[in-house]
Amino acid sequence: MAYDPKHAGKKETTTAKPLRIAKGELHRLAQLDRRYVWHPFTQMRDWLKSEPVVIVEGCGSVLKDVHGKEYLDANASIWTNLHGHNNPRINGAIRRQLGKIAHSSALGFANEPASILAERLTKAARLTPKPHSGIRCANQLAKVFFSDDGSTAMEVALKLAFEVSRRTSPGKRPRFLSLSGGYHGDTVGAVSLGKIDLFHKAYRALLFRTETVMAPHCYRCPFNRAHPERADAREYRKCNWECVDEVEQKLAQMKSREIRCAGMVIEPLVQGAAGLVPQPHGWLRRVSQIVQSAGVPLIADEVMTGFGRTGFPIGPLSFPKDSPPLFACHHEGVQPEFMAVAKGMTGGYLPMAATLTTQRVFDAFLGDYSEFKTFFHGHSFAGNQLGSAAALASLDILESRNSIQRRARLQNALKSELHALWKSPFVGDIRQVGLIAGIELVKNWETREPFKLADRIGIRVCEAMARRGVLTRPIGNVIVIMPPYCTTPAQTRRIVGALEEGLAEVLPLSSKRI
Ligand SMILES: *Cc1c(COP(=O)(O)O)cnc(C)c1O
Repeated sequence: MAYDPKHAGKKETTTAKPLRIAKGELHRLAQLDRRYVWHPFTQMRDWLKSEPVVIVEGCGSVLKDVHGKEYLDANASIWTNLHGHNNPRINGAIRRQLGKIAHSSALGFANEPASILAERLTKAARLTPKPHSGIRCANQLAKVFFSDDGSTAMEVALKLAFEVSRRTSPGKRPRFLSLSGGYHGDTVGAVSLGKIDLFHKAYRALLFRTETVMAPHCYRCPFNRAHPERADAREYRKCNWECVDEVEQKLAQMKSREIRCAGMVIEPLVQGAAGLVPQPHGWLRRVSQIVQSAGVPLIADEVMTGFGRTGFPIGPLSFPKDSPPLFACHHEGVQPEFMAVAKGMTGGYLPMAATLTTQRVFDAFLGDYSEFKTFFHGHSFAGNQLGSAAALASLDILESRNSIQRRARLQNALKSELHALWKSPFVGDIRQVGLIAGIELVKNWETREPFKLADRIGIRVCEAMARRGVLTRPIGNVIVIMPPYCTTPAQTRRIVGALEEGLAEVLPLSSKRI
């Protein structure tokens, strides 16, 4: 594994004092963590049982812990990192910006990198299909509202969509339409749009009402009549696109109940937290046509999928090889009215997000001050200069030939390496979308019988992978592989190899009949 100390561990990035590690004793930083830190989405009782991995350095796809052990960052530090850690170009851009100013307020002032970034983002988000493809290009995303993270980017989208709906057709309170299994963040508005019971049920009394329609989930779809095969369920499914009909019926039903729809919220191409659940090719295009021709705005949550994560497209809408689409929507020629981006926006360096929308939405908030049509919403760090500088550098890298080649190489390496996993009878589905892969572990592939969540199979497999120097985090029984784009074919092999070994350790073949 190539850990290049040239790029990592420069004196300024490490702790000043050398850390003393007594044998058998918990590292001082681990002790501090255990005493004071409460970790997100973590059962802290389990956390406190073992020594946490304390990361001190990173370089490319490699993370290094406080004991000097190296790991491959197989989930890109929770789906954020694009070009690797300690990337010289992003580091340089942040340093240059730091020499000028770190932050000034967007409430009352414009600034240099945020102005440039807003233009770059609208250009990147613009759909430029081939002239003969028949896709309408009106309603381009023309305005950028900056915020801090995926949740806030979604809060902004939902507030804007709600207000536009309320202002343009007064009457009953509009409602949002979400997909089952959807995840849009953890603030109360974003949780209202979300549909993962495990996370959201506890807060139900706090939430506003939304409508739900089934998301496509070929592997576990009640309409899929195909028997399980050793392939991605989307490829062998037998259905009549019932999931698309359901959306059509839902909109008709809302109309007949006189419920106005303020927007349909979608994670395009693949639902992340649902368990990396991909949509079959054509679903997004079909559903968008239905939704948008009913006059309902489409709110695309590209927080996970944005900035090249969904790789190179399959199917008829072919893009030239030197410019793969940066956003999932573009794979199917879809132009949403709202697009939320975050995670990878700064290359995974800094918390920064944006909500992109159309001139029409922007105009609905114009008026005399005394009309109070202002969008009364904003975050202290909106348009932060350091984040903007990192995001600009990240966009430069994304558009470079070198990065495009690396992404193509990673997508292909993932595809060929993942194939080996079908050997395990505990692998039920392998779903890859570009540079994202979810491997669903099941008790019995022939019946798709799942493991009980309480058995913590996903967690145990990931712990076994960590012992082999590969870090990732499961979603229930789904193992996530979503490495930085600079991950080499050899590193990809190591990631999948660690998963294979982890599987064999946690689920030996002899356990098959238990
Ligand atoms: C992670 C995520 C969010 C929330 O983003 P945060 O930055 O964690 O607030 C929203 N939507 C999707 C699809 C995500 O994957």
